[in-house]
Amino acid sequence: MIGASLLGAVGVRARVLEVDSALQVEVAVAAVAALDEARGAVQREVLPALSSVALANTTLSDTLGISPALQAQIGVQVQAAATESRSSTDTALAHLQTVSGQAEVGHDATERIRALREAADSGGNDVQAMFDGYLSVIADLSAAQQQAVAAAGSRQLSPTAQRAVHDVQLAAGLAQAASQQMPLFLGGQLPIPGADTSRWQWLISWEDYRLASRAMRELSQPAAIQAWTAVQDVEDVTAIDSVFAAQAAAEQRSGLPDLGGAVPSTGLTAPRPAGAQPSGAQEPSGEVEPSGPSGGQQAAALSLPVAQLIDLSSRSQARDEVFADLVSTVVTQAQAAVARDRATAVGQRNSTLAGVLALVLATLTITMFRARQVSRCLQDLAGQAEQISRGQLVQVRPQGPREVQTVSTALDAAVSGLRRLQAQATAVAHGDLHDPVLEDPLPGPLGEVLHGSMTQLVRAVRQREELKDALAQQAAHDPLTGLANRARATTLITSALHRGQRTGSMTGVLFIDLDGFKTVNDSFGHAVGDRVLHTVARRLETVVRAGDVVCRLGGDEFIVVAEHLHDEATLTVLAGRVIAAVSEPFDGADTPVRIGASVGIGVSRDGRTDPDQLLGEADAAAYRAKANGRGRVEIFDEELRTQLRAHSDLERALRAALATGGLAVHYQPVVDTRDGRLTGYEALLRWNRPGQGWIPPDVFIPVAEGSRLINEVDRWVLQEATGQLARWRREGTADQHLTMAINISGRHLTESRIVDDVHTVLTEAGLPAACLIVEVTETVLVDSPAALEHLRQLRELGVQIAIDDFGTGYTSIGQLRSVPADVIKIDRSFTSSTQSAESTLVGLMIQAAHAFGLRVIAEGVEHPEQLAKLRAAGCDEIQGWVISPALTAVQATARRTMTGRLQDDPVPPADPAGWRGPP
Ligand code: C2E
Ligand code: CA
Ligand code: CA
Repeated sequence: MIGASLLGAVGVRARVLEVDSALQVEVAVAAVAALDEARGAVQREVLPALSSVALANTTLSDTLGISPALQAQIGVQVQAAATESRSSTDTALAHLQTVSGQAEVGHDATERIRALREAADSGGNDVQAMFDGYLSVIADLSAAQQQAVAAAGSRQLSPTAQRAVHDVQLAAGLAQAASQQMPLFLGGQLPIPGADTSRWQWLISWEDYRLASRAMRELSQPAAIQAWTAVQDVEDVTAIDSVFAAQAAAEQRSGLPDLGGAVPSTGLTAPRPAGAQPSGAQEPSGEVEPSGPSGGQQAAALSLPVAQLIDLSSRSQARDEVFADLVSTVVTQAQAAVARDRATAVGQRNSTLAGVLALVLATLTITMFRARQVSRCLQDLAGQAEQISRGQLVQVRPQGPREVQTVSTALDAAVSGLRRLQAQATAVAHGDLHDPVLEDPLPGPLGEVLHGSMTQLVRAVRQREELKDALAQQAAHDPLTGLANRARATTLITSALHRGQRTGSMTGVLFIDLDGFKTVNDSFGHAVGDRVLHTVARRLETVVRAGDVVCRLGGDEFIVVAEHLHDEATLTVLAGRVIAAVSEPFDGADTPVRIGASVGIGVSRDGRTDPDQLLGEADAAAYRAKANGRGRVEIFDEELRTQLRAHSDLERALRAALATGGLAVHYQPVVDTRDGRLTGYEALLRWNRPGQGWIPPDVFIPVAEGSRLINEVDRWVLQEATGQLARWRREGTADQHLTMAINISGRHLTESRIVDDVHTVLTEAGLPAACLIVEVTETVLVDSPAALEHLRQLRELGVQIAIDDFGTGYTSIGQLRSVPADVIKIDRSFTSSTQSAESTLVGLMIQAAHAFGLRVIAEGVEHPEQLAKLRAAGCDEIQGWVISPALTAVQATARRTMTGRLQDDPVPPADPAGWRGPP
């Protein structure tokens, strides 16, 4: 904008200077015109002034031969001409004084002319002095005119205006040269001193005139040329020219007086055009040529008659006016040209000014537009920045000027960093921890810290996921074999059944119970047992079809879940392969280990079976396979279904009996072998099922053990029996040493509650722990470490532990050393045996038990001989029909108070339960 303004100022200044220049030229041309007019007027005044002085000089008149009459006549004419010329001189000089820059020149000329006139009017008759005075004024005016012309020419003008000004110069020079001719000529004609000088001067002025007229060929303006052409035809002009040409030729022929080289200059020299011919050279045609009368030898007196001089003088006057008109015309032309220049300059100045204004306006508009653009971009940027500050990660587009673009680019870079952070946070939030975006680093130190935290977070979450997976794997899998465990198996069966329901295809479960695995465990130890289980798992996985799943339910029980079956035969074939695979020998010890498998098959034809029921059916089938002689395959069928249904009926009824008081506890006396003294009772559960009579515990206890019902049953018996013992003790019908033995199921014993349960009933009954004997089967000691631990805790309470059915299980006599027990109960199968080997074994058991500090109770003693043998073998106590079957609490009380000693009553009463009475 500054540049535009400067440029404009320079342009405008140039245009203003042009206008000023044109104005100056106009003024100068006007001055030239006014000066020319003044000079012409003064020159026209010279002749009449000189004439009247000359006329007043009688000597001169005489010399000239002017008669008094003519003198008078001429005097009047001269006076009139003098008056007229004076008036026009005054007018011209007055005008000159008003012209700009010429006031002084005009004033000076006016003063000097006035002095000359006064001298003339006061009778002064020195013609020469007067003539010189006029010539001096004319010379000064001419000089001023030349200055004005030079001033006009020095200005910068258009070529046309320059030529027009040049025309003025030419015309003014011609007019000047012409106007001074006549006075000089007349001066030269007069018989007065200095006439010779005048003639010289005239000759020079004639040369000047001729040069000036020749220079007129350089006129350029058409109007000037036209005017000049017309002037050349004017009679006064041609007449004077021919007279002067002749006179000049005559002078040159006669030769001029020697003036000693002191020819004074007129000071009026017309500009000599370049290449102008020197005087005497060949005149160009159409120029002033010597013509008219060719004068002979000139006398010192007038070479022309006075009349002709007067005529010539008046013609000169007329000619001056013609030339003055010519000058005026040329001046007008020049003024017009200059005015046109000025108008053009003004126009250009105005248009330049307008252009500059337009440029400045345009610059201003562009600047404002740019400013608005910048502010709009900044506004956009601010808006985007605000959105970003609100958490909307918009894209920042670089736009607008470079600086704004730089800021936008920087902001966009920051936003893209945030966007990456957002993407990473989103990936973490969606749990997509393997998204490659999480690997991208974030820019800058802050980005480094954030990325570090993000990586840390991802690592922590990954670890958590891995841990979760591991836990899920653990929860769903058996750690020993890596197979799905019981919980997972149920889920798998459920899913398979759903699919079967959808597709209408058959689903099957193979229940695999290993045969002889316990022996392996006992003979080769648990490590070998574990290896065998692991190998079995791998073998099962190999023999099943693709898509079948192998699970381990626990212990030596496995299942195979098979789906999309077309017939049961597929399952039978698969079961055969399973048995064959398991029956292959294992080399885990010194001798190859061999086991077998019993397989039960459960089938759901339409997937509408309950998963537990299907598993139960397969289990039941496997149970029957085992019962029917190991290494067999049994398919769950109607018979089994009936059995299962009966089983669940029984369980339901038992549950109801427990809730409604349908159960009872009977007490079988235990006596000291040596003296028959009552040492305690074994509590035995009795169930008189309505409509069905007495149900043996051997039937319903295993059913109760199939579910958690056994725990409730055991607790109830525990409460009932301890309560009874406490009552007896309160009543005083039982002494303080009487014990109560209670059967606790192995399943119940694995639960930690058992210790609390026992503690609670003893506290409630107010009994010392020592009067309670907990009977457990020896399998409990082998199978469950938890049960063993609970037994230890019970012993710590002071409760006695008895190992029931000793000798039927897997406990070797040697193991008794470490068993947490106080009593062993020798199973009835040993007691009743008549074989001597068994008797020997019983004796060994008794000795071993005693060696390890255990008491021995023999059960199922039916005959006195058996009793005698046991007594002989050192058995501590016995129970059995030989003494008494289990009695109701009332019977037991009555019997104690009635007899006191048991052996007094050799025939025991029948068991009130009605079965297993004495023979
Ligand atoms: P067990 O603990 O071995 O109980 C002894 C069984 O032998 C009882 O059968 C008893 O009536 C019977 N018995 C007693 N003396 C003789 C005899 O001289 N000859 C013959 N042949 N049998 C005799 P019971 O009452 O039928 O009980 C069977 C099994 O049921 C018990 O065997 C015990 O394991 C279980 N049981 C009984 N009551 C309970 C109970 O309250 N809780 C638990 N968990 N199990 C119980
Ligand atoms: Ca028992
Ligand atoms: Ca027993």
